Amino acid sequence: MFEPKIKIGVSFCLLGERVRYDGSHKFDRLVADVLASTVELLPICPEAEIGMGVPRPPIHLVRNGDEVEAVSVENKFEEFMHSLQSLANARKHDLISLSGYIFKSKSPSCGLTDVPIIELKSQKVMNLGSGVYANSVREMVPALPVEDELRLNNWDKFHNFMERVQLFKAWQSLDKGNSHDKAKFHQNGCIHLLARSRRFVNELNNLFLSQESQNTSTSNRNYIVQLMHLLSEIPSRSGHARAMRSEVCSGTIQLSSNEKEIALQQIDLYENREIKLGQLLVRFYESPWHNRKTSNYLNPYPRDVLLSAMQHFNDRHQILNLSKEKRSNFESVNYWAQSTNGLYTNSIFRRSNSY
Ligand code: SF4
Repeated sequence: MFEPKIKIGVSFCLLGERVRYDGSHKFDRLVADVLASTVELLPICPEAEIGMGVPRPPIHLVRNGDEVEAVSVENKFEEFMHSLQSLANARKHDLISLSGYIFKSKSPSCGLTDVPIIELKSQKVMNLGSGVYANSVREMVPALPVEDELRLNNWDKFHNFMERVQLFKAWQSLDKGNSHDKAKFHQNGCIHLLARSRRFVNELNNLFLSQESQNTSTSNRNYIVQLMHLLSEIPSRSGHARAMRSEVCSGTIQLSSNEKEIALQQIDLYENREIKLGQLLVRFYESPWHNRKTSNYLNPYPRDVLLSAMQHFNDRHQILNLSKEKRSNFESVNYWAQSTNGLYTNSIFRRSNSY
């Protein structure tokens, strides 16, 4: 059966689009190359969309008494808080169709947690907070998996994000009135939680049982928000292995005794640090049984996303291990690639590997 592509919202500048206040961009290869070629992206630049123009005077977040405001750096009376908040409402139809969102870090509009908040009188950074638009999106869709590009460029966090995105997508297309399908979704969610902690499984089970008879939009919303919140914790290697063994032995996938034995041996190799998580998942995708059940702990998101991401992290690892001289050589070439909106980045990365 044809399955629609995963749809993810992104800050437009991460795709190499020149929409920043100074007319520049923040091309990010993982987003613009890897994800753009494997999932559907919805790019939004909130500051450009509310008509601030490119280039434009930069804005920042300031604390004035109890209030935080988004104002122009050049003119503290020019505020953009209301327009940025309203944009999320104006784009509601698009936002509720997304299964994830990747925001630009540190931006007063798009940042998730690391945006400097300036104290108006002293003009000093008081603390860090969330960008105005990103905050409104999270209030509108509290279960939506979100990440910023800095955190996403870490394999564990990338894997965790994609795992949440795939589960959230499954929830979006679930018939909430069908108690059998809902119970199956819950059972699958519990395997994901088992990788984190048995306490998390008990917590979600209690919530599921207490709300089983209700099936209201509020009870469904509470359930998925809690599941997504618990899933944002990153499992340990032994946690992943525990959940995978449970999936293999649970009987939810029809495995012959030989297939089961091979799968368990692969999990042992992973737990003993002889192979990495990505390698283990590729072996599962290539197993004859992988088509018998999709979207579970053993094949948590589409294979092409996994393979492209593994290539990206492998390239990245090699570049980070280059000698200083070779890396600066690479960076100057990569700068040129960025200045051409990343159009040539793939070939540049390939060339850099032969240094
Ligand atoms: S961080 Fe957000 S507001 Fe700033 S340029 Fe990028 S997309 Fe636009």
